[in-house]
Amino acid sequence: MAVLKATSTTAAATTKLGPAACEKDAEKLAFIEEMTANADQVQERVLAEILTQNSETEYLRRYGLNGAADRVTFKSKITMVTYEDLQPEIQRIANGDRTAILSGHPISEFLTSSGTSAGERKLMPTIQAELDRRQLLYSLLMPVMNLYVPGLDKGKGLYFLFVKSESRTPGGLPARPVLTSYYKSDHFRSRPFDPYNVYTSPTAAILCADAFQSMYAQMLCGLIDRLAVLRVGAVFASGLLRAIRFLQLHWRDLAADISSGVLTPRVTDPAIREAVGDLLRPDATLAELIEAECAGGDWAGIVKRIWPNTKYLDVIVTGAMAQYIPTLEYYGGGMPMACTMYASSECYFGLNLRPMCKPGEVSYTIMPMMGYFEFLPHEEGSSVGGAALPQLVDLVDVEVGKQYELVVTTYAGLCRYRVGDILQVTGFHNAAPEFRFVRRKNVLLSIESDKTDEAELQGAVERAAALLRPWGATVAEYTSQADTKAIPGHYVIYWELLMKEGEGEGEGERGRLPPAETLRACCLEMEEAMNTVYRQSRVADGSIGPLEIRVVRAGTFEELMDYSLSRGASINQYKVARCVTFPPIIELLDSRVVEAHFSPSCPKWAPINN
Ligand code: AMP
Repeated sequence: MAVLKATSTTAAATTKLGPAACEKDAEKLAFIEEMTANADQVQERVLAEILTQNSETEYLRRYGLNGAADRVTFKSKITMVTYEDLQPEIQRIANGDRTAILSGHPISEFLTSSGTSAGERKLMPTIQAELDRRQLLYSLLMPVMNLYVPGLDKGKGLYFLFVKSESRTPGGLPARPVLTSYYKSDHFRSRPFDPYNVYTSPTAAILCADAFQSMYAQMLCGLIDRLAVLRVGAVFASGLLRAIRFLQLHWRDLAADISSGVLTPRVTDPAIREAVGDLLRPDATLAELIEAECAGGDWAGIVKRIWPNTKYLDVIVTGAMAQYIPTLEYYGGGMPMACTMYASSECYFGLNLRPMCKPGEVSYTIMPMMGYFEFLPHEEGSSVGGAALPQLVDLVDVEVGKQYELVVTTYAGLCRYRVGDILQVTGFHNAAPEFRFVRRKNVLLSIESDKTDEAELQGAVERAAALLRPWGATVAEYTSQADTKAIPGHYVIYWELLMKEGEGEGEGERGRLPPAETLRACCLEMEEAMNTVYRQSRVADGSIGPLEIRVVRAGTFEELMDYSLSRGASINQYKVARCVTFPPIIELLDSRVVEAHFSPSCPKWAPINN
């Protein structure tokens, strides 16, 4: 796998990207230069490797590739697909068919994407060698960061990293999220010491599947080592905010443990107890400091106050996570936020070569050795299909300013697979384009990794609305918002109800709305109808709060239409937006709320059959 090696032998101290912090960094930066300068040749080589490795697969044979490994044949014979198109093959692999269906290499496991199909997590087949490729991308992050933030080898990173529950497919293959797979791999667990990548969290704490124990131990160790912490992070912004919320809820217990030098009995995992036991010593001064910082209830700039040497927050705040920027600014006291990489279960794509830029300016450079990348021109409102299929554009041929949907061909056997992300080209680094993440297609609501689309919301509303029938009520109109003012965030669904003639009027303040307990049941029914990622976040992770229905008074949606028309919407084309983000519209809706109800309990979710 020659393409995985940094082939530049003379590690220069200064690269085009800037002066490297050390010899090893220089080699990695030279590698980035080499890959991006020769992006097209690397892409051609990657495609040839993929097609050669998978030449005997049922999939490529079906398309009559006959061992061809060149771009022209590939493009003329292989069609673009979605997950749903591949589901029969994926299901066979999941059921235990070990023949070479998609990949010439054995499928080592399934990565469970946060993207769903028919309510279930998408299962992405992967092969062992992909771990090397993911690790290669990780190994490029610090050399780039070191260009902008010196001295990161003089301290540690406080990263809140978690594994999630995993299951097995009927054929016995593990099915788990990509990060769980990575943290449990030898690549992570037996990583050699690297002064630029020292974490405060013991590996045992990261690997504990119990969310409370894992978070408690990671926070405790971060507090013990507070002065060594130079960067604070999580994968996504929502994860870091959950950690801050955890501190708000548990600082007394954490301070008590630090004061006594004894770990709370609530942490029972033996490996964590051993790891934390090595670090925890009675420290009354530190305990007092934590109490003094947290007891006042002033959380502005708390990260900077508790970890005063922090230079930046390392979290993704692009895409769906952009909604958390103001909250992170508040808790971080305005500290810079670094978005370092762009990745998915299907494939790790690339990295941000200017990680200290402002969140609104983040662009990711897709690294051409990670997979074979093509781009489907995207125009707002257009749909692709039928005879007029536009040509897919190659990585080096995309145009600045234009938007595209990412299409990937992977070593694990996905061919011309639509990822569903819309990207906009902002420029080039050498021959490799840089992309702003615009949005994920068809996502209406998202709090963390959940992605609820319009059809799912519609289905959930219909299911819940059935509970109103005995009361002569129907849902006349609805819309929604992801409310992230409090942590965890939650879905808010605005309902305008239509009561049957004579059944909805008069009598008391709330008229004849269905009883509160019915509306609460509607909240829960909607949650039951949501996809598995939503329900897992609610049940296992507690990272989404109870769903809320806000009943608005009759005529509200007409007012909403009037408002939109006054702002230039066309009356012929006006449709109720099923999700609202524009603050004046949310204000209007909120000012018309008659009553609000929350889901009284968690929906059903189990790690099996998820
Ligand atoms: P998953 O398959 O669950 O790992 O989710 C991958 C998806 O998360 C991607 O396809 C993107 O939609 C989103 N994502 C990953 N990294 C980023 C990023 N840096 N910025 C915005 N969205 C991201």
